[in-house]
Amino acid sequence: MDQKVYVCTGTCQAEVTEEQYQSGIVKCGTGGCTMEGHTFEERRKCSVCGQTYKPEETHSH
Ligand SMILES: [Zn+2]
Ligand SMILES: [Zn+2]
Repeated sequence: MDQKVYVCTGTCQAEVTEEQYQSGIVKCGTGGCTMEGHTFEERRKCSVCGQTYKPEETHSH
């Protein structure tokens, strides 16, 4: 099963794991990022190719 991750959709493209998100890293803190201060968005990370995609999207090979 693909891993749940959270990403910044701004210019910094930060990505945090479920554990990091649960420990309080829930929004972008990168200075200068276009989405600084905004909450990360949930994604799934493909265990095969490493690509991230939205939970409602299907990703297959
Ligand atoms: Zn950011
Ligand atoms: Zn993939």
